[in-house]
Amino acid sequence: MNGDAGIIIVGAGECGARAALGLRENGYRRKITLIGDEVHLPYERPPLSKKVLLDHAEPRLPAVLNDLALAEKAIRHIGGASADAIDAAGKRLILSDGRALSYDKLLLTTGAAPRRLANTPASSRILYLRTMDDAIALRSHIRANMHVAVLGGGFIGLEVAASARSYGAKVTVIESQERILKRGVPELIAETITALHQRNGVAVKCGVAVLGIEADERHVGISLSDGKVIAADVLVVGIGAQPRTELAVKTGIAVDNGIAVNEHLETSIADIFAAGDCCSFPHPLYGGRRLRLEAWRNAQDQGILAAANLMGAARCYQAVPYFWSDQFDHTLQIAGLVDEGRTVVRRDLDDGAFILFHLDAEQRLVAASGVGPGNRIAKDIKLSEMLIAKRIMPPIEALTDGVNLKSLLPKAA
Ligand SMILES: Cc1cc2nc3c(=O)[nH]c(=O)nc-3n(C[C@H](O)[C@H](O)[C@H](O)COP(=O)(O)OP(=O)(O)OC[C@H]3O[C@@H](n4cnc5c(N)ncnc54)[C@H](O)[C@@H]3O)c2cc1C
Repeated sequence: MNGDAGIIIVGAGECGARAALGLRENGYRRKITLIGDEVHLPYERPPLSKKVLLDHAEPRLPAVLNDLALAEKAIRHIGGASADAIDAAGKRLILSDGRALSYDKLLLTTGAAPRRLANTPASSRILYLRTMDDAIALRSHIRANMHVAVLGGGFIGLEVAASARSYGAKVTVIESQERILKRGVPELIAETITALHQRNGVAVKCGVAVLGIEADERHVGISLSDGKVIAADVLVVGIGAQPRTELAVKTGIAVDNGIAVNEHLETSIADIFAAGDCCSFPHPLYGGRRLRLEAWRNAQDQGILAAANLMGAARCYQAVPYFWSDQFDHTLQIAGLVDEGRTVVRRDLDDGAFILFHLDAEQRLVAASGVGPGNRIAKDIKLSEMLIAKRIMPPIEALTDGVNLKSLLPKAA
């Protein structure tokens, strides 16, 4: 122990905030300090590409913790402060303003940052989306009749495209792969999403590389490998994110596609844990395969589990990976890991919605993915998640025939 140093959490995002709350919920009575380099209170990121862009009224911070909650829970939030170094031997964290804070245990929830495009001119018309400030900047550029180009047919790019269309903007999505959503999303679902965007007036260009970008403070010109030049008012770059590992690397903490943690979310240095988008962890459901997830539920669940383990619970992280995305009136959801599947079985629901069940070589359910309007797929995905967690090998006819998935769960569940 280090006097009354308590627990310091670096990174005041979803995961850090949930961990701080989790510590208090578990009865932790000592100091909790939550440090974030953004000036805002901890907030949710999913609304940034959806509600914050879509609402025509002034956006409000989708806060996870407000000042009152911080005061009630006695959580000290230091905003606008970057943690620059860790003195692991002396158990001290050094902030960018030179302050040194002592800790008993440290949790790193530093998240991820957008991958940047190399060799682009400096221009306020080339934008990324990770933070509330990014979303506010982007909103100011989305207007009817403006041309919004989106580079990258991943979730964030597609959500921005859908939101921009709701303002009547002209929207072009540029994707270098032969289809959108290449990473972790089945082709059938990507086709449905492509058709959804096209129906709603988005131009989706796949299989084209960007050869060059010219930009000033009013326009962006994007030269493509098919010889075309897209003239846009704004370019939103959504080409993936990278884990923020710089502090861990400086400290000598092992990194492997993110801060490498064990099943208890402990890093390679004693009393330092990591959780959320910044970390990679072994998943027991998938033979200990090391994963790094960029998903809201994972950030929450790992924050809560890290809180318990910081207090000595030694619980193993084994939640089924889960992700959703909202685009136009459709929701896409994925539980489990699609690429672990060998066989795909389809179940059709009402209104064009469908679920794909992904089974491994032994017919064990390893993932379920689905897309459809409104909430159509939610129940089946939720039940699939429970089946995946229980390693169930469901009869194929039960999956195709619309049998209530609940009946496939063990009776005690
Ligand atoms: C626009 C957008 C839409 C999304 N939509 C969905 C969705 O629909 N569904 C879904 O499942 N997931 C979605 N996600 C992903 C989800 O929001 C993330 O997985 C989640 O926010 C990760 O939480 P985190 O706390 O691990 O990291 P973050 O939320 O990134 O928080 C990390 C914080 O740490 C700070 N930090 C980093 N280094 C330091 C340092 N050295 N010192 C101090 N502070 C530091 C960062 O600035 C940041 O504020 C979306 C993400 C984005 C950006």
